[in-house]
Amino acid sequence: MSKIFFILLILLISKHYPQNLPLEENKYQYPTSHKQLSEFVKKLDESSDLLNVEEIGRSVEGREIFALKFSKNQFGKDESKLRILFFAQQHGNEQSGKEGALLLAYKLIQKENSHLFDKIDLAIVPQVNPDGSEVNKRRNANNVDLNRNHLLIDQPEVKALHNFFYKYYFEVTLDVHEYSPYSQDWRDYGYIKRADEQLGLLSNINISEKILSYSKQKVLPFISNALQEKNYSFNEYVVGGPPNLERLRHSTVDINDGRQSFGILNTLSFILEGKNGKDNFIDNIKRRAEGQYEAMLALLRFCYINSEEIKELITTERKNLIYDYSPIIVQMDHFKDGSKFNLPVTNAQNEIDTTIQIDNYNPQVKKILEVPQPDAYLVPKACSLSVEFLNNHKIEYNDNLPELGTLQIYQIESIDTIEIEGEKFGNPNVIITEKKISEIDREKYYIVPLNQVKRKVISLAFEPQSMFGLRNYDKYKKLLQVGTAYPIFRFFKD
Ligand SMILES: [Zn+2]
Repeated sequence: MSKIFFILLILLISKHYPQNLPLEENKYQYPTSHKQLSEFVKKLDESSDLLNVEEIGRSVEGREIFALKFSKNQFGKDESKLRILFFAQQHGNEQSGKEGALLLAYKLIQKENSHLFDKIDLAIVPQVNPDGSEVNKRRNANNVDLNRNHLLIDQPEVKALHNFFYKYYFEVTLDVHEYSPYSQDWRDYGYIKRADEQLGLLSNINISEKILSYSKQKVLPFISNALQEKNYSFNEYVVGGPPNLERLRHSTVDINDGRQSFGILNTLSFILEGKNGKDNFIDNIKRRAEGQYEAMLALLRFCYINSEEIKELITTERKNLIYDYSPIIVQMDHFKDGSKFNLPVTNAQNEIDTTIQIDNYNPQVKKILEVPQPDAYLVPKACSLSVEFLNNHKIEYNDNLPELGTLQIYQIESIDTIEIEGEKFGNPNVIITEKKISEIDREKYYIVPLNQVKRKVISLAFEPQSMFGLRNYDKYKKLLQVGTAYPIFRFFKD
């Protein structure tokens, strides 16, 4: 009797537990399709008590976006556990992030890894952009680059991700991508980048200095060692170059990407960049997927070992953020600090692997312009786009405007142009005029207080001189018009 029961049990388990990854079933000739992904994660879900799969939203074309939530208890409920979010394939033509994330999920439900969840609640979103993936295109079906949409959050895929983030306020996030080393300008220079994996840290200097230095001093060397032990070449993520044509720097200071949009809330956030295939698709996919998996696993192990320390760091820095009245840095750029960067490369002629030292390296981010932070901003109720922005970020605001207080109103005199990170920004010359709040029709405004964790997002989005500001996006262009008053006011308590 018990024998029959045992056989039935085996049958039951084998029916649910997936034997292979979809990529293996495809014999590494095709990446995992959305249909395969959706069947696979549902099977994983059925086979493990650790895992709960949640649909967090749908793409433009209606495909499900899944979060795989790993927890020994109720996800996100135990405050002592570190909450971690990994998400991959915002760019549809970067297939290895998704494959690596599925491999990670597959491994994590196995017994030898279950100890990780004594200290961690982990969510994996293996595929943010299913529509792009199906046709191996970078952008989503609205032709939007999702990794530039994290300030507007007006695409369904990015909305789903942010809403999911706000539900749990993850303390660590990782955004998984691929970079392409095969451009002609580097070949002409004589070398091509060869790192299997690059890890990018936060670079916007409005983010807690303690978090920035923790990433650099502790996380980066750990990931570097872990990957090199497994024979994956690694360097800190650098963009730009070749150095004879362009400076090398770390990745953008903008807050509209998947790394920094969470980082600006004082989250320990990273971007991972695996090496793309030569065909920008399936070439070398097994090793690419395994490299992404190893890097993700290394970060997870780091978080497990240091979970209390990270928890303490993020909790403290988020609390401090709410009352951080220091000036907000609205313009910044990358500068040299005298150091050189050791870049692992392959010689384009003889194909020998080597490392070159780069002088034209700008690792230091410094401020160009800062402005004092007000106590709040006033947003006209009629300015529906600005209200939409507040709602998309789940920013707190209300219409209980105080009777006392002073407003600062920007008059836009003229607009110059500045260029940072190779992009041109309108740089308005402003004059500030002051008014008492009693002089305006208070019914017509919402007040957005800054004593909230999103205070820096609010200031960076609303300040007219901000290189990160809403007014830099086509949709919001009319906010900034020469000869008029900027419609969003700064408010100071009397
Ligand atoms: Zn990418």
